[in-house]
Amino acid sequence: MEGIVKQTNGAVAVIPATPAGLVNGEQLLKIAQLVNEGAGLAKFTTGEHIVILTAEDKVEQVKQELASVGLGIAPVGPTVRNVKTCPGNLCEFALQNALNDGLNVDKEFSGREMPNAVKIAISGCPRNCMEARCNDIGFIGTKNGYKLYIGGKGGNQILGELLDKDVAPDELINYTKHIIAIYKDNAKPKERLASVINRIGIEKFKR
Ligand code: SF4
Repeated sequence: MEGIVKQTNGAVAVIPATPAGLVNGEQLLKIAQLVNEGAGLAKFTTGEHIVILTAEDKVEQVKQELASVGLGIAPVGPTVRNVKTCPGNLCEFALQNALNDGLNVDKEFSGREMPNAVKIAISGCPRNCMEARCNDIGFIGTKNGYKLYIGGKGGNQILGELLDKDVAPDELINYTKHIIAIYKDNAKPKERLASVINRIGIEKFKR
């Protein structure tokens, strides 16, 4: 499901896919142009996206212009969302390279259809700037790898529970694949991961 969402004032929000919140100069200039041609204002989201507001009859044109600079549309709804990460090794406190690891996870999973939203966040150290435990799947870097939390749901003030620790960076994709498979096998229609964990127990998600 694409990030094109009707707003209460009749405008349409078009949300470019920006995994890890990364955008290059050419893309930023294009976004600025589209914002100026649209509502004149953009909104930054907690999901590390920039929302462009435009008119309904301009949506296809906006999509084409974004595509011309290599920007797709962010997944929304019952999908794996773009992965959120901190700057990783660019930060002096980093214990793991959350940025690179997050981009790899995003490349593998974002946009996949799910029973409900699956939000993934990755922090490079225990300061946890990405509030990883507020997400369905959250990784927090330590000197031994990553701690893995699942079942967070920030909107309901539910913190993810610790599933595993010392997860090697090159295991993030496999572990995420494992969790998603169990979630899909056990979820009722539209059920979020937090609720599935409540029903079947966190032990079922251990490898
Ligand atoms: S979580 Fe840690 S590594 Fe990432 S930005 Fe925050 S302090 Fe830096």
